[in-house]
Amino acid sequence: MKKIALLFIIVLFTSCGDKKKVDIPETDNAEPEIIFKYGYKLNDFTVIHDTIKKNENFSEILGRHHVSYPKVLEIVNKIRDTFNVRKIKVGIPYTILAKKDSTQEALVFIYKPSKVKYTVIDFKDSISAFNAQIPIKVVEKTATGIIKSSLSEAVEKQGLSPYLTYKMADNIFAWTIDFSKLQKNDKFKVIYEQLYINDTVPVGIGEIKAAYFEHGDKPFYAFKFVADSTTGISDYYDEKGNNQRRQFLKMPVQFSRISSRYNLNRRIAFYGNKIKPHKGTDYAAAVGTPIMATANGTVIESQYKGANGNYVKIRHNSTYTTQYLHMSKRAVKVGQVVKQGDVIGYIGMTGNTSGPHVCYRFWKNGVQVDPLKEKLPTSEPLKASIKPGYLNYIDPLKTQIDNITYTK
Ligand SMILES: [Zn+2]
Repeated sequence: MKKIALLFIIVLFTSCGDKKKVDIPETDNAEPEIIFKYGYKLNDFTVIHDTIKKNENFSEILGRHHVSYPKVLEIVNKIRDTFNVRKIKVGIPYTILAKKDSTQEALVFIYKPSKVKYTVIDFKDSISAFNAQIPIKVVEKTATGIIKSSLSEAVEKQGLSPYLTYKMADNIFAWTIDFSKLQKNDKFKVIYEQLYINDTVPVGIGEIKAAYFEHGDKPFYAFKFVADSTTGISDYYDEKGNNQRRQFLKMPVQFSRISSRYNLNRRIAFYGNKIKPHKGTDYAAAVGTPIMATANGTVIESQYKGANGNYVKIRHNSTYTTQYLHMSKRAVKVGQVVKQGDVIGYIGMTGNTSGPHVCYRFWKNGVQVDPLKEKLPTSEPLKASIKPGYLNYIDPLKTQIDNITYTK
């Protein structure tokens, strides 16, 4: 499983004071519009917008705007911890606030490396510098898609951010849906935050509050929720409060016992005490006992074959695959999407076996391993004391997402 990349977007909730710049003729009757930006009343300055040119340095720019060389050196030294002037880059826009008189001497330099971030270097009186962000407006939006070929195609065709694809596939549903096995007409709905600066300029996606995926005709819900207010770390849970980062079930059969463990050095008397590795874990139970998928996935094999007898193999994601042998009866077909706990077959003694059991085999990155010794992804279930609050919280969100209609 890919690592979850953390993308932090700091959102400043301020009432947006940025107004469109409108030139109002200064007459006796009309007061000029007062414009505040970067923490300054722009009306008090001559405002100069420019971009860093090739081979141009900070000292030259300020020199051109009538700041003496010794003063420039003083500025560079004083602000070193906040801003390294040697790191200014060609093409980056900046704004200079200069004296309004005939000298037009620069007083403030504002470097703007992104749509959101800027650095203010103020040398009006004393010298200071700080990094800041333009206030971001957060607007809740919804989106839907129906898969024709791929998820990214369904997302991007509508002009939606590829970040939505990334979040759903690599983060929210990474553990519950195998995105390499999406089927035509699988569908999704999301409730997310679109971030804007200056009211209309989109600068990215905030959080995804809720998502719904219909995969192989099965519904998958995910709601973002902070279960632990002390850490404030959020996670995605389904409509029942199960964590999306789902652990494997401890065993594929309830009420059974392990009759033989994974053992690469197993010696069997029957084979003349030769080493005959056992790359599975055997769970003994009565014939007909249901066998469950230990995690969500897609059935990639379901057949009768030699020593395996009736068996089912499930691919969970790019990392994990499981297999269940010696069934009396199989209950799933190849291509079928299964959820953790779904019955996929029944205990039997088909193939090479001396008694009724399921031989449970576990692959990690194509290698058979002992699941009882594997460090599997852990998921913190919601505490019983938190669950009612969670269910209350998601109730209106679930109604909202259920009521979103798909747009073609
Ligand atoms: Zn076995």
